[in-house]
Amino acid sequence: MTELKLHNTLTRQKEVFTPIDASNVRLYLCGPTVYDRAHIGNARPVIVFDILYRLLCRVYGEKAVTYVRNFTDVDDKINARAAETGREIRDITEETVGWYLEDMAALGTLSPNHMPRATEYIAEMIAMIGKLIEDGHAYAAEGHALFSVDSYDAYGKLSGRSVEDMIAGARVEVAPYKKNPMDFVLWKPSDADTPGWDSPWGRGRPGWHIECSAMSKALLGDTFDIHAGGNDLMFPHHENEIAQSCCANPKGGFAKVWLHNEMLQVEGKKMSKSLGNFFTVRDLLDQGVAGEVIRFVFLSTHYRKPMDWTEAKRAEAEATLRKWRGLANGVTPGDVSPLVINALADDLNTAGALTHLHALSKDAGQIETLVGSAQMLGLLTDEMGGWDEVADLSAFSDKLSEIRQEAMVTKDFSRVDALKTELIAAGLDVRMSKAGVELVPTSKFDPSKLEGLL
Ligand SMILES: [Zn+2]
Repeated sequence: MTELKLHNTLTRQKEVFTPIDASNVRLYLCGPTVYDRAHIGNARPVIVFDILYRLLCRVYGEKAVTYVRNFTDVDDKINARAAETGREIRDITEETVGWYLEDMAALGTLSPNHMPRATEYIAEMIAMIGKLIEDGHAYAAEGHALFSVDSYDAYGKLSGRSVEDMIAGARVEVAPYKKNPMDFVLWKPSDADTPGWDSPWGRGRPGWHIECSAMSKALLGDTFDIHAGGNDLMFPHHENEIAQSCCANPKGGFAKVWLHNEMLQVEGKKMSKSLGNFFTVRDLLDQGVAGEVIRFVFLSTHYRKPMDWTEAKRAEAEATLRKWRGLANGVTPGDVSPLVINALADDLNTAGALTHLHALSKDAGQIETLVGSAQMLGLLTDEMGGWDEVADLSAFSDKLSEIRQEAMVTKDFSRVDALKTELIAAGLDVRMSKAGVELVPTSKFDPSKLEGLL
């Protein structure tokens, strides 16, 4: 069996991965808060951990892996969006969930086995909060329930901070009802205009962190294998999940391995609305960037390194995939290359896996392996294709033939040369012979440059 190594944030080491139960390997990924389109940074963990899911399925068998990714559908950002727009909360969350599933499918990510919504697990959250209060890990105050960080010695272990450092460094919400400023909200009161559920602490709604603790317990148990997410969630979200789950389920160990992906930049700068470099997955798809191309660019950087989305990378990925799709045409996928598997098994080295694919593409005898291996990464599949189909080039070759015929008579070849130059500039190989004109796309082919040439 392939030996898997993963970098565990908890131990700060790359470790050999040994599942708790090889017939039931369990993975949890923190999902989106559903009030708006996913921006491209949001897509990074989804693509990265889709690769992990595919790898686990390959190593342990598809039926032996359970992958959970939640939807946070109760949150103050959603409430604020409803207030701004006058729309019903349910309409906003339903619409956003639909968009999200559509956009992530366009990026070639597989559906997790479970996609729980927080509002469907309120009873489980209330039960967990009740247990925490009963055991002295939480307390009720002024309609709130708060987790007491002083009750859990290991608080801060994941992110490697002490409670004192956190107080000094974090924007702590100071509230008179908190015993320690770092105590965080498990439950908070709702007014008549805010969604709320009855609870022992009054009508209210859950804090964000308790959602993942309750949903992972319900679907994966008190101890499971891997918890993943962006490194922006390490503190406080994941730290708080650990505190809640370990205190509420003292016999369970919660997640054994924690994986965190680094953030995404655009052209070397942090993506932000104020810099004007903020865009969603849908924006890119609507601009005609194929989901497969986006996926390829993401896979070209290791998940623990910051990733830079650049126009140059997009163009290069598009040319590579166009070339590979040309080679793959009509080829039956072969076995996945062991080199590709080994790269992925080494802490998800997707960039290394792509390097192996490049090498396979240069060997005419290895095209079946190229296709089989690429498909394991969610590339070169039928579903991800179609975008590369070249606009009908016959209109351009007919036009070139026609003006060449005319030029034979007039002896003025200037129009022929001009069109030929444009076609070459669009990345076409222009082959003219007595038999006629043939246009063959090269790896630099850019169909947008053909616009307006006829
Ligand atoms: Zn979470």
